[in-house]
Amino acid sequence: QTAAFRTDLSSLLDLVGTGKESLSFMKRRMRRLASQWGTAAQRLHAKLRQRWREQKKILVHVGFLTEESGDVFSPKVLKGGPLGEMVQWADILTALHVLGHNLKISMSVKELQGFLGVPPGRGSCPLTGPLPFDLIYTDYHGMQQMKQHMGLSLKRHKCHIRVIDTFGTEPAYNHEDYATLHGYRTNWGYWNLNSRQYMTMFPHTPDNSFMGFVSEELNDTEKSSIMQNKVNNMAVVYGKEASMWKGKEGFLQILHRYMEVHGTVYYETQRPPEVPAYVKNHGLLPQHELQTLLRKAKLFIGFGFPYEGPAPLEAIANGCIYLQPKFHPPHSSLNHEFFRGKPTSREVSSQHPYAEQYIGRPHVMTVDYNNSQEFDSAIREIMSTKVEPYLPYEYTCEGMLERVHAYIQHQVGSPLLASQEGQSCVEACQRANLVCEPALFRFVNNKEALRGLEVQCEVVEAEVNHVFPAFSVLRRECGLQKDPLLYSCAGLSPKYRRLCPCRDYRRGQVALCRDCL
Ligand code: UDP
Repeated sequence: QTAAFRTDLSSLLDLVGTGKESLSFMKRRMRRLASQWGTAAQRLHAKLRQRWREQKKILVHVGFLTEESGDVFSPKVLKGGPLGEMVQWADILTALHVLGHNLKISMSVKELQGFLGVPPGRGSCPLTGPLPFDLIYTDYHGMQQMKQHMGLSLKRHKCHIRVIDTFGTEPAYNHEDYATLHGYRTNWGYWNLNSRQYMTMFPHTPDNSFMGFVSEELNDTEKSSIMQNKVNNMAVVYGKEASMWKGKEGFLQILHRYMEVHGTVYYETQRPPEVPAYVKNHGLLPQHELQTLLRKAKLFIGFGFPYEGPAPLEAIANGCIYLQPKFHPPHSSLNHEFFRGKPTSREVSSQHPYAEQYIGRPHVMTVDYNNSQEFDSAIREIMSTKVEPYLPYEYTCEGMLERVHAYIQHQVGSPLLASQEGQSCVEACQRANLVCEPALFRFVNNKEALRGLEVQCEVVEAEVNHVFPAFSVLRRECGLQKDPLLYSCAGLSPKYRRLCPCRDYRRGQVALCRDCL
């Protein structure tokens, strides 16, 4: 089945459902960005020049929005709770829909069970038979729920799962045995995935895949009108929860000497005590009103928290300069509560390292806030610097579509199959309309691969044998390849079932995988 680009979002909007503030937030965002997605789809379509794309069956299970995981977010949406996640899920859903895939969305364990074919009332009954999806996008909450409801078969189907994981998971934390041995176990789990299956909000490390989200893109007319209407002494503070303003009076005072200070802090009836009286507080704004405010403002200023959210990119895209604190020493799971227990040792050098490292001046200024002179002169410099709105390509709709397209077509392109006894990998892959790819043997020549296929091994031995990696069902023996020169697609033995790495190929040019050019 061919995946055809979709420029109309109405069936997606129906699929998302109703009844929760989080869903309404996502749908408002989808509607607001619909025309941008449409244009991006047309551009990517032209760029791919009729390249055939397979329509995948995709399940998106948004674990953190399920009642079963406590759904702590939905009630917070109107109070400024972490909207970043909602932004990202809305964009992932839209990208998958626009790319033309066959999409199912689940936001409860019941729906999840329904989609996976687990009989009702038999929650712990493991899914038998093939997985009805090519890909499942979920999060850590969703992983737990799938473990509970798929049982052992989760292991078998693991390679189809993608975990949306804002801050990322490093290999040392992901690898169960290694994590246990070396003290990298966390409450998030050690799922023994391929680390590329974790998909992050920003490109933190190539160990994980960068999923991202999108921000609004402006045309040249909009850009120049924004530049003309900038108010040089207008600042917006990054921080929609009052707690983010706590203890920042000193910086606010300095800022207020030069600029009119605006905020978008959620409040119920009264101004939160953390927000000084001279601040024009708009309350939490709908996304499009925040964009309007950012179009006028010259400065978007962070006070250190929240970390790595979407808002600074939106501000820069609307022509603001983003000023943020440098962290000295950097924040990490070793020294900061927020990162404690997260499956990464990454050192965060400022409030928004992506803005610091990938964007930088003149759009981003990262300074030592403890040095009030430096802080003071940064503000004066910002007031007199002219900048154009800027959005990195990877955060445009086209950039995100291109990336998600490549992940889907490449990362699904190479499954691991077990041959029958007496069958070579050439034949085993062929049966599945694929070809055996010797370059991939090194990825399947390990215990994890055997475990993934739920092979029962009493012994696992590495030997020089041209049919290895392979296993004998009868004798419960498993063999790994000791000499990489002997990796063979052709090899076969009546005693063994082989581990076969297969990939897709171009019709009429079998040497190349479908998207390898
Ligand atoms: N946002 C909003 N109204 C506001 C302030 C923020 O809609 O008054 C949106 C903003 O457009 C951004 C999202 O909230 O897309 C997430 O913002 P933030 O960077 O603060 O990240 P978070 O901490 O929520 O992950």
